[in-house]
Amino acid sequence: MNFFGYTLQNLKEYFVDIDENPAKAGIVFDGIYKHGARDFRGFGFSERVVAKLERDLTFELPKVIEKRESKDAAKLLLELSDGEFVETVLMRQRFGNCICVSTQVGCNMGCKFCQSGQMKKRRDLRTEEIVGQALAIAAEFSCKIDGVSVMGIGEPFDNFASTADFISIISDDKGLAVGRRHVTVSTCGIVPQIYEYADLPMPCSLAISLHAPDDDLRNELMPINRKYPIAEVMKAAEYYSNKTHHRVALEYILLSGINDTDECAVKLAELIGGRDFYVNLIPYNSTDSEFRKPDTEKLANFCKVLKENGVIATKRREFGADLKAACGQLRADYCKKGERG
Ligand code: SAH
Repeated sequence: MNFFGYTLQNLKEYFVDIDENPAKAGIVFDGIYKHGARDFRGFGFSERVVAKLERDLTFELPKVIEKRESKDAAKLLLELSDGEFVETVLMRQRFGNCICVSTQVGCNMGCKFCQSGQMKKRRDLRTEEIVGQALAIAAEFSCKIDGVSVMGIGEPFDNFASTADFISIISDDKGLAVGRRHVTVSTCGIVPQIYEYADLPMPCSLAISLHAPDDDLRNELMPINRKYPIAEVMKAAEYYSNKTHHRVALEYILLSGINDTDECAVKLAELIGGRDFYVNLIPYNSTDSEFRKPDTEKLANFCKVLKENGVIATKRREFGADLKAACGQLRADYCKKGERG
């Protein structure tokens, strides 16, 4: 088994299974994640225990195939053990280094504006492959990770178990110790898993890709809305917010002439009502789709109307466009050689 697929809890259970003291799990976790150990020799365990650990646990990581870097962003193309590829992005933000990880190879959600969905899901990533993305970034760019967005390719709540284990490892004090408020999982709105996420022992932050203030428009843009309409998504998000006391982010890509009118902004504010949610406006990153981003004036106006109607709105800073590493630009079809980039 791959060590990076184990949460601290899993590792404790493993030690119990091999008739050893589960307290050893914390020592190992700390040594591997905090001090960069990649074998079991330095922990003062007996030869017998070391032999068992070496027999059962490996430290295999995805292979770095390509590395690109600009002033404030970087991107890695990683190859997984079965020859599939995955992309991971590093953004150097003011508060620190934030990474954006993928959870699936391809995506089945079919959002009209998103490039990742152009290739159907080939498979879910395993926990160690998501953790591996973070470790690869930390190693390649010799940096500490201060924030994590689960917003790369794939729908994290369509791969819930691995996503939940990943956030547990990444936020564990003995793991990579990223502050829970700085770990954000973004979903297109898979309702049952929003409840499940809220009920995790240690949930992190939640972002919902809303992108439209009513069902008619959202049905057009995001097929998942036919299964889980807006009212149900909002109810689930409210449950999360009440349970965790974390403020929910509603992501809203502004698409020129489609969802950027004053009327949409007012409707969005009405939808939020008094809930403790905020809107994160995302400038659309051009892909080869039919959509375009509105001009800066239109964006500022949308933000103004939201604020006039009592909604907190932020504008997402654009990162990595020069690397084709911006939101929605990660390519799902890079495995076809010659089409990379
Ligand atoms: N499946 C998850 C996470 C991956 S997408 C989700 O839907 O939230 C991460 C964010 O990028 C989502 O809000 C998504 O809607 C947005 N996005 C997709 N394509 C984009 C594009 N071309 N420009 C800007 N944002 C985009």
